[in-house]
Amino acid sequence: MNYSGRLRRLRLELEENNLDWLLVTHLPNIRYLCGFTGSAASLLVGGRGYVLITDGRYRTQAKQEVRGARVAIARKSPLVAAADYLGERLAVRRRRSPPNLALVGIEPDSITLGVHDRFAATLKGKVRLRSAPPLVERARMVKDADEILRIRRAVELGASLFAIACKEIRPGVREVEVAAAMEYAARCAGAEGMSFSTILASGVRSAIVHGRASRAPIARRGFVVCDFGVILADYCSDRTRTVHVGRVSTEARRLYAAVLEAQLAAIAAVRPGVSCAEVDEVARGVLRQHKLARYFAHSTGHGLGLEIHEAPRLAAGQSQKLEPGMVITIEPGAYVPGKWGVRIEDVVVVTASGCEVLTPTDKELVVI
Ligand code: ZN
Ligand code: ZN
Repeated sequence: MNYSGRLRRLRLELEENNLDWLLVTHLPNIRYLCGFTGSAASLLVGGRGYVLITDGRYRTQAKQEVRGARVAIARKSPLVAAADYLGERLAVRRRRSPPNLALVGIEPDSITLGVHDRFAATLKGKVRLRSAPPLVERARMVKDADEILRIRRAVELGASLFAIACKEIRPGVREVEVAAAMEYAARCAGAEGMSFSTILASGVRSAIVHGRASRAPIARRGFVVCDFGVILADYCSDRTRTVHVGRVSTEARRLYAAVLEAQLAAIAAVRPGVSCAEVDEVARGVLRQHKLARYFAHSTGHGLGLEIHEAPRLAAGQSQKLEPGMVITIEPGAYVPGKWGVRIEDVVVVTASGCEVLTPTDKELVVI
């Protein structure tokens, strides 16, 4: 991973945004910028360089992982230490030149009010704090070749768990037992974990959009929504397949076919220059034709990478245009409360002329 390049680009962005420093506190952003995977850190970007501040538990790990930034081990919380560090730097600067308050950007979505207040108190009279625009999130939207390779591997491993689901799903077997078999296989294959709680929702539970695997036994007849993903070498995968247990009614077949049609149409619409809202509207439009739009209660997809949900969001009103290198999910669904639900989800990478579907593409309705 080209950490130095990422840090350099961010530094240029700071100048464009009139910020002297950026205090990075969102851990996936820190991981993206310098490779550190620990659970307590702050990263200061600005001045003459980059400093990753963490605590004594991570001394060895930080040395091994961090590239492109200096590591400082703090005796107190990394955030308080970051404030002290800045305070000292800025005191030097104030002695040297006519005092002008440095502008320090913070990541408003990852900082609590309590932390902000402490930070502001420590640096009172020395800096002006500003909510920074989502500079790192924006950079993370477009993946480089190393990242796409990792996502490809995560998606391959994640997708392979569907075969296990198909083997385990039987009427009477509890949803959690199916999820456990999938998760055990993922760990055995080297996954660091699941990218979210495995969703396994059968019978009427399939109408719940995020029906985490429960102790409920799988119904004798009906859909089972399986939505699952792994984290492999830091990167997430995400796949949904809906299978049917028992005889499939014509109505069930129609519902499945409509969702699949919406999904394929949305995938066909993905190409550079198209807005996220337009792709969402394509999926929604197909479901509207089938009088199912009101049962499609979520957005069409999301970016994924170091996090399972990241920018961009494929939803109404999202003017963000797709660019080559963006990795997104396409996952329309239809959920009829108290009855049933279907969702089909793939991961795609935007290419120069369209997109490549990374998830294995077989989407015929599997009947168990
Ligand atoms: Zn999913
Ligand atoms: Zn998803």
